[in-house]
Amino acid sequence: MEYDYLIVGAGLFGSVFAYEANKAGKKCLVIDKRAHAGGNIYCENVNDINVHKYGAHIFHTSNKDIWDYVNQFAEFNRYTNSPVANYHGELYNLPFNMNTFYQLWGVKTPAEAQAKIKTQVDKLGITEPTNLEEQALSLVGEDIYHKLIKGYTEKQWGRPAKELPAFIIKRLPLRFTFDNNYFDDKYQGIPVGGYNKIIDKMLDGIEVRLNTDYFGQKDYFDGLATKIVYTGMIDQFYQYRFGKLEYRSLRFEHEHLPVSNYQGNAVVNYTDAETPFTRIIEHKHFEFGSQPETVITREYPNEWTDKEEPYYPINDTRNTEVYQQYKELAASEKNVIFGGRLAEYKYYDMHHVIAHALKKVRTELNLAINVNA
Ligand code: FAD
Ligand code: UDP
Repeated sequence: MEYDYLIVGAGLFGSVFAYEANKAGKKCLVIDKRAHAGGNIYCENVNDINVHKYGAHIFHTSNKDIWDYVNQFAEFNRYTNSPVANYHGELYNLPFNMNTFYQLWGVKTPAEAQAKIKTQVDKLGITEPTNLEEQALSLVGEDIYHKLIKGYTEKQWGRPAKELPAFIIKRLPLRFTFDNNYFDDKYQGIPVGGYNKIIDKMLDGIEVRLNTDYFGQKDYFDGLATKIVYTGMIDQFYQYRFGKLEYRSLRFEHEHLPVSNYQGNAVVNYTDAETPFTRIIEHKHFEFGSQPETVITREYPNEWTDKEEPYYPINDTRNTEVYQQYKELAASEKNVIFGGRLAEYKYYDMHHVIAHALKKVRTELNLAINVNA
């Protein structure tokens, strides 16, 4: 065999795996069907602004080892994500915190805010939330649910909030301090110079073939390497034999504007049901840019078809059951390693993907990677 590993997908999972395997002396070939490496963290430089081509990416983790690991590839700035919500023209701070509660109800102390939420939550009497709607209502009550959650969630996922898993809403902090930090994690930032720096360093010295779809020449590629690391859609790998998994896709509408500051924040969420997009990203603010112009991106969610990119797994009951069947099949493969958001059908953030890739490569090659992954 010409290569030890064929790595399908030059996203974060494939790149971490390739970097570590290459460092351990293994010969790797990385292929990706896109015209660039990096998968969804890829940025395009437009007049000195790093445009997050596939949606806002903010690195955050509480795992010091993962933070140190990623810092070896780039320096990170001090960006803290603090999105603003626009509900029919009214502005609210996110995540749900004392600023939000003041804006909603005029309450000024944590005790007043807690009392307000408690009255609303108690009225509903939800004891064991079984879906996103019940989970949200039982955490924050009706006002926040209707103004800041329901519209956004149902646009984003294209399904009633009642049909979505509760864990999705638990991604958002609820706190009774005046703190607009969207994440609770200890470490957070944006790589100085953009995410491509990280991927370029990881893949330095490794053969990468772009515009190359694995399924276009599967037999040829299978014959090139002893083992395959597969980071694409798991159902596609098995020719959809247990049925198609559903994914949520997005259409990104990028606009270059001759103004220096369009919205005053990197992320503004449109939480009403009527606005067809979920958020507008103004990329320069991730890096405190002072360019005289700006680039903004509107995100329009839509159902995935094989003409679009599958961005989000939909971890509802039906899809979870179907995925379980693929997972069992994957576990019996001796020469294929499955990893990443699409192959594991998991709503992974970047730090999760790095941790999982490190775990898999460490086990595979018996490496002494001293990372608590
Ligand atoms: P991907 O990046 O999807 O890479 C998989 C690669 O495989 C792709 O390049 C694809 O082209 C390639 N591929 C697939 N099939 C084939 C094939 N048949 N042949 C060849 N190549 C193939 N995480 C955070 O931590 N913070 C954030 O703020 C954040 N924001 C996000 C916003 C959006 C809109 C999205 C969609 C994700 C966000 N994430 C965020 C998650 C983050 O993007 C992922 O955790 C991470 O990039 C996943 O890496 P991956 O390698 O698993 O997958
Ligand atoms: N969400 C919401 N209102 C918001 C932001 C998020 O209801 O203003 C919900 C929505 O269901 C979303 C989930 O919280 O899918 C997770 O949000 P996050 O910002 O983590 O989504 P991502 O960045 O992964 O798209």
